[in-house]
Amino acid sequence: MEAKSTSTEELPVVVIGAGPIGLAAAAHLLDQGLEPLILEAESQVGASVREWGHIKLFSPWRYNIDAASAAMLESTGWEPPRPTALPTGAELVQDYLEPLAALPELAGRIRTDHRVLAISRGGRDKTHVQARAGQPFVLRVAHASAVTELHARAVIDASGTWGSPNPLGAAGLPALGEEDPAVSERLLGSLPDVLGAEAQRLAGRHTLVVGSGHSAINTLLNLAALKRQDHATTITWAIRGDSAERVYGGGDADQLPARGALGQRLRRLVEEGEITLLTGAEIHALAVTESQAQAPDDDAAAPSVLEVDFADGRRITVEYLAAATGFRPQLELLRELRLELDPAVESPRRLASLIDPEFHSCGTVEAHGADVLAHPEEGFFLAGMKSYGRAPTFLLATGYEQVRSIAAHLAGADASAQNLNLPETGVCSGVSAPDPAEPQSCGAPAPATGEAQSCGAPELAAVGRASDGTRAGVSTGVLHGRHG
Ligand SMILES: Cc1cc2nc3c(=O)[nH]c(=O)nc-3n(C[C@H](O)[C@H](O)[C@H](O)COP(=O)(O)OP(=O)(O)OC[C@H]3O[C@@H](n4cnc5c(N)ncnc54)[C@H](O)[C@@H]3O)c2cc1C
Repeated sequence: MEAKSTSTEELPVVVIGAGPIGLAAAAHLLDQGLEPLILEAESQVGASVREWGHIKLFSPWRYNIDAASAAMLESTGWEPPRPTALPTGAELVQDYLEPLAALPELAGRIRTDHRVLAISRGGRDKTHVQARAGQPFVLRVAHASAVTELHARAVIDASGTWGSPNPLGAAGLPALGEEDPAVSERLLGSLPDVLGAEAQRLAGRHTLVVGSGHSAINTLLNLAALKRQDHATTITWAIRGDSAERVYGGGDADQLPARGALGQRLRRLVEEGEITLLTGAEIHALAVTESQAQAPDDDAAAPSVLEVDFADGRRITVEYLAAATGFRPQLELLRELRLELDPAVESPRRLASLIDPEFHSCGTVEAHGADVLAHPEEGFFLAGMKSYGRAPTFLLATGYEQVRSIAAHLAGADASAQNLNLPETGVCSGVSAPDPAEPQSCGAPAPATGEAQSCGAPELAAVGRASDGTRAGVSTGVLHGRHG
């Protein structure tokens, strides 16, 4: 991999991230006779999926396994899980990603605890065009408290978006005080394991849930279940819109009964006063302050609370805050590359019109591969969740086709995109895109509270862009999950 003495063609294709798409990319590269090297920031493969391991996927196993990876696994006697079963994130890791990463073909080509900090082109900063394409890529990598450089003939960035959640401020900026370490300790992330790992911390406490996607719904319903065990548990729910009607869904008329039932349960909990709903609630500032409540004994320090200031002057105090506000791609490490990103979606420009959340709340995505995902920086690709930028509708099956096409392109084979077989989770109808005022995160018909939560729900409304670029209602047949 040391570029100085090696020709670019002999260098590996570096894949950033050992998530489902990064591992699949490596399998496809091997299939094409190319040499992959996966750099994974964390100590285990599937690191992001492990963090939402308690969530049940909405797409069954048959859509969650990459074909090239399955072929490699099956040659060792591995048996795929029941195709119609819905795995949890933990099962996806245990029954698929771990066996895949342990295959001899892959195991020696994965470097865990290697975090990519930056990528450039050897000897060429972004402004230099001459002979750029022939130069190897240079990757700055942090490993074991040292920073080293690796070289690559091509780079596939499959590092996901889980590590960069959207901030709480309505303008897309952090709320004032949000990055204060004392405040950060009170933030639970998008999908806290309310009835598992977090139960002890949250029981009897006051938690604010922010957001109107299914992450928020899951968390609210599970907090309500926790409240049944410990009545002192207090739940507040903040949404930016003026009404939660859209979140409650269509009830009995909902085309997805599980989703309709969830919404109705949430409505009941709000109407019964178990959950306090704050509408029109844009978070302005956060601070940890001393509680006005009496300390348990005179000598004890007064307990601290999280003070939440809203833009309209309202203020509440809580103990924890679950921010289900979606995710965005980390682009700083790509700064020296010549990218062509959509200014709003932050996905490859040509992909954006297929997935822009302003216009696509479900909707099938056209099969797309290397040509749609290409950038002016030849040999560099975004794939997987990160390729969708801020759009929350990415599916594993889409990413597996992306990396199949990219690997074929890099090998000089036919890279044309093939038809996608995506999970059929309902029928798109209606014409309204999601309320742009609302942060969306995750979205799935979830099972009964207390079971593994489900995320990535199909959305019923579909809005598309007409050929003249104007907004038009469409019904596109297959729904995508949302997991902002
Ligand atoms: C709660 C939830 C439920 C979902 N349910 C479904 C579903 O039912 N069906 C479906 O098809 N899709 C679903 N998705 C969407 C999507 O399939 C998943 O997000 C999936 O994990 C994306 O895979 P990925 O490989 O692109 O990214 P990730 O799984 O996020 O993997 C990225 C990897 O890159 C590593 N990494 C990050 N930064 C660096 C760096 N700088 N250097 C090196 N490594 C780095 C991370 O540690 C991680 O291991 C769901 C998503 C969420 C969040």
